[in-house]
Amino acid sequence: METSRRDFLKVATIGGAAASVFGFDLAPAYAQLRELKIARATETRSTCPYCSVSCGVIIYTLGDKAKNVTPQVIHVEGDPDHPINRGTLCPKGASLEQDILNERRLVKPQVRRPGSDHWDDISWDDAISEIAKLTKKTRDDTFVEKDANGHTVNRCEGISFAGGCTDTNEFNMLVVKTMRSMGVCYLENQARV
Ligand code: SF4
Repeated sequence: METSRRDFLKVATIGGAAASVFGFDLAPAYAQLRELKIARATETRSTCPYCSVSCGVIIYTLGDKAKNVTPQVIHVEGDPDHPINRGTLCPKGASLEQDILNERRLVKPQVRRPGSDHWDDISWDDAISEIAKLTKKTRDDTFVEKDANGHTVNRCEGISFAGGCTDTNEFNMLVVKTMRSMGVCYLENQARV
């Protein structure tokens, strides 16, 4: 029997769902291949960070349990037990592994000073301290006690806050309480709290 490249790719594409051009079912071989890929991996359930649909994902990691080994993500797929997506992911969510394993991903805070044309690394302690000082200064400079009609408004017009779908409801609740206590009214997140 002659097997063309197209026939072979066709079999590979359907994943051995039917008898192959080789005359036997390739499904067990594909299943074993998949099993081998993730057999020793740790499964971590998580949430896709890209949009508010919040599809469930499983992140497979190697090396979590050995000493002196940096854990390595080897595979990400939709969580079949998740009630929202039941194992499916849109193309963006399906590329999540490339978001995690990306050498351009920022893993530390950076700051771009006024007038500078580049970003500098900064420690977490310094970043938090600077953000706190600038937040207080901006709030003090832009706080409005009464509007033009003399009505008491007590609002801060110089700060806005935007949250994302990766923020938990608990985090968003704290953000809302913090921002509201400062008088911030330009406040948005995807949790609708
Ligand atoms: S997989 Fe797609 S639809 Fe689901 S949360 Fe991610 S971006 Fe949104």
